[in-house]
Amino acid sequence: MADFFIGGQWVAAAQGGTREIRCPANGSLVAEVSEGTREDTEAAIAAARDAFDNGPWPSTPIWERGDVLLRVADLLVRDKAIFARAESLDTGKRLVESEYDLDDIARCFRYFGKLAGQDSGRVVDTGIPGAISRIVYEPVGVCGLITPWNYPLLQTAWKVAPALAAGNTFVLKPSELTPHTSILLMRVLMEAGVPDGVANLVLGAGPEAGAPLSDHPDVDLVSFTGGLATGRIIAASAAATVKKVALELGGKNPNVVFADADFETAVDYALTAVFLHSGQVCSAGARLIVQKELHDRFVDELVRRAERIRLGGPFDPDAETGPLISAAHLEKVEKYVADSLAEGAVLRTGGRRPEGEAYAGGHYYLPTILDNVTRGGVAVTEESFGPVLTVETFTDEDEAVAIANDTVYGLAGGVFTSDGAKAQRVAHRLRHGTIWINDYHPYLPQAEWGGMKQSGFGRELGPTGLAEYQEAKHIYQNIDPGPQYWFSHSDS
Ligand code: NAD
Repeated sequence: MADFFIGGQWVAAAQGGTREIRCPANGSLVAEVSEGTREDTEAAIAAARDAFDNGPWPSTPIWERGDVLLRVADLLVRDKAIFARAESLDTGKRLVESEYDLDDIARCFRYFGKLAGQDSGRVVDTGIPGAISRIVYEPVGVCGLITPWNYPLLQTAWKVAPALAAGNTFVLKPSELTPHTSILLMRVLMEAGVPDGVANLVLGAGPEAGAPLSDHPDVDLVSFTGGLATGRIIAASAAATVKKVALELGGKNPNVVFADADFETAVDYALTAVFLHSGQVCSAGARLIVQKELHDRFVDELVRRAERIRLGGPFDPDAETGPLISAAHLEKVEKYVADSLAEGAVLRTGGRRPEGEAYAGGHYYLPTILDNVTRGGVAVTEESFGPVLTVETFTDEDEAVAIANDTVYGLAGGVFTSDGAKAQRVAHRLRHGTIWINDYHPYLPQAEWGGMKQSGFGRELGPTGLAEYQEAKHIYQNIDPGPQYWFSHSDS
């Protein structure tokens, strides 16, 4: 077994470690993969360092790097079925969702491929006839890329595409639970013409295989997507070598529904906002904040429809959403619900695992709605990362904004209203990195994504997503040089 990709070669774990990957939908064995330790990651870092310091990639013209990314996009389209199946087996998500993800992933590579072609630096007007000056955008160096299990290849693409476009080399450490599409990606990168040593992959647990990416002096930048607790560890560890850090962390995302919203639309999106991928979405609209007079009718309808959501495995054509990623995560969601009920939340539906043979061996949890939650309590402050919606009410615009901002997180949120001016006012006052109006969840490769407050810092996607992986260097040339004589040069 040789699943690590280091310096252009497939290699096995130095210590011979392995890990079983099991499908969350039924516990079946998907495959056994190599399991790395610090030693493997240090070998990958050395390969990436050498490729950056001595290889052709950083000085390859940026439009040529862009062409490579466009080829990657084409290959992802060609191999879509293979990638989607692998993603669904690792995550348990429906095949159709993995296929949507693959379309987004190809679009991401295409976007950065084209953006790279437009990026040629900037001339600065010095105001001095004898001096010219320009800004050039150079790669940062060796990048450590650490990604989670919920959208394994999508989160990876958001880092790999701009890192490559900018001319960096990288070591990727995906979630230990969902490694397969990263392995497939390395093959595609090679086929598209990425030189040896530029793209490196190690697999394994975070504290062992991941930690060197934040503490090693030969890594220049670490970009991490995952939980808040891990993000704190990574930022602290990266501080010792003052490397650049980008953190995409969790969210406790408000979905604000005003009484004047279109009822059917708002109900429909409120369900997708929280129950898509069984709530395992960093931007999940897990916190419904609904205007008081609409509450009863709105929540009754949510409950009616939530109870009809069909659970099932990745290849079940009737399934509308799937399992949670692991037994440990299922227990975490159960504890979150138990704690919320203990502090007074009212269980309107769900709150337990589904019954039936179809769910045996899988980590399923029913779509759950908790009403009347306590302001400041566990239910509204902690990210459950599961299919659990909490409900709070407000009377006016000011109160809606105050509740929606009452969280340490600041990733995303929604506003539903038929009053366009009110929608804009509220969107501007919400302290979250993305606001959707009369919609929920869409994102575009050309629009920045990232968090405020403890949802992290740095941005992915859009022009800023490329800039994260670049150093802006100022080159100033005196084209009419002569002595300046700032200091006296004569003996008198
Ligand atoms: P996690 O923090 O447990 O793990 C994420 C990655 O970090 C994994 O690859 C893991 O192996 C690695 N890791 C763990 N400890 C490490 C360490 N000490 N050093 C280096 N690497 C380490 O998160 P998760 O459970 O995989 O993902 C769920 C979390 O991710 C949720 O909180 C979710 O909100 C967040 N998320 C955020 C975004 C975003 O765009 N902001 C997107 C997806 C997921």
